[in-house]
Amino acid sequence: MVNAIVGANWGDEGKGKITDMMAKEADIIVRFQGGANAGHTIVNDYGKFALHTLPSGVFYDHTTSIIGNGVALNIPVLFKEIQSIVDRGVPKPKILVSDRAQMVMSYHILFDQYEEERLAGKSFGSTKSGIAPFYSDKYAKIGFQVSELFEEETLKDKAERICEIKNVILEHLYHKPLLKPEDLLKELREYREMVEPYVCDTSAYLWEAVKAGKNILLEGQLGSLKDPDHGIYPMVTSSSTLAAYGAIGAGIPPYEIKKIITVCKAYSSSVGAGAFVSEIFGEEADELRRRGGDGGEYGVTTGRPRRMGWFDAVASKYGCRIQGATDVAFTVLDVLGYLDEIPVCIGYEIDGEVTTEFPATVKLEKAKPVLETLPGWKCDIRGIRNYEDLPENCRKYIEFVEEKIGFPITMISNGPGRDDIIYRNGK
Ligand code: GDP
Repeated sequence: MVNAIVGANWGDEGKGKITDMMAKEADIIVRFQGGANAGHTIVNDYGKFALHTLPSGVFYDHTTSIIGNGVALNIPVLFKEIQSIVDRGVPKPKILVSDRAQMVMSYHILFDQYEEERLAGKSFGSTKSGIAPFYSDKYAKIGFQVSELFEEETLKDKAERICEIKNVILEHLYHKPLLKPEDLLKELREYREMVEPYVCDTSAYLWEAVKAGKNILLEGQLGSLKDPDHGIYPMVTSSSTLAAYGAIGAGIPPYEIKKIITVCKAYSSSVGAGAFVSEIFGEEADELRRRGGDGGEYGVTTGRPRRMGWFDAVASKYGCRIQGATDVAFTVLDVLGYLDEIPVCIGYEIDGEVTTEFPATVKLEKAKPVLETLPGWKCDIRGIRNYEDLPENCRKYIEFVEEKIGFPITMISNGPGRDDIIYRNGK
């Protein structure tokens, strides 16, 4: 059986925690898109970890972690990450890397930096991990596939060809040092040495695993609103963040994905630029940022303070729909326990009309939030394990949100740890 764990919002919903928790019952965890540009924070028996490339199931010794073909594979980051968890006492994880995955090269990272410099104030808020240049090259058909590392002649020709193309831009657009084919080859050979023991046809492996009835989790990065097709284009990421893409980025039949666990946060946060309708500012935002997540809402990869907002039912309803949510995991609810009253964005006012449908970006930029305020519960709900034991106002908040988004909230996360979870049976 294959289940996907994906984000309903702008990312940072707590997918890592839900994956780590569900990985207990899983055999295989697959990353199917994205790269080292975002991160998951995981708190478990070994401590607190920030992962960027490894799937969040690496902490169990019964699981196999797969870097699927859809991922932007940064080999040095992957190896640094494996080393860093092993150094902290985690058993060496079993990892497989798709022979069809493509690699982030050092020039992708440089191009990302150069482009941000060129755009200056008009930048897209890139994390400068090379992700946009990487995916551009993938679709321009000038990317390097892992399988190509093992064909020396092909590699040489391609390195020369790529330098030719890249050097035109480096010279005339960015005015930066040019690439040399021999440096590229050296980099590629280093990657070959590092990755060789892990490479296989992961889609064939997964096909056999599906047939054998293994429990497989697809782990998404970021969330619906950062999807290049359905998100807030152009302030989006460069690979699809949707569960549907899990089939492609892992190489499995789409009909095998049975559950789409869509992680939805009890308030909003976002990194990077772009319209953010329920955004709050000043002291109100600072307080939520300080109390948010597990130790504040700051980017795992970049350390950037996240933009904060109230729960956005319009964006979340859309985010769940576009994912095809079968289950909603409602997270970081414990953080809201300090508030007397909790505003929720229930509609967008655009050109004088109120809508609950999430619009395309040009309209979104004109949207003003329509808020409804619910009473807070004013206590700490961490440690509660049964839904009925939650304070009445807290249950009312959950049920209000569930009604507004129109998808069943089957799990409630009330703390960062593996056991901080409340299942709603019968949902
Ligand atoms: P991801 O990229 O979706 O995995 O999100 P992050 O790694 O940014 O996770 C959000 C943060 O919230 C992390 O620091 C988690 O440890 C933390 N977290 C996850 N679930 C909960 C929760 O229910 N309550 C609290 N307080 N923190 C949580």
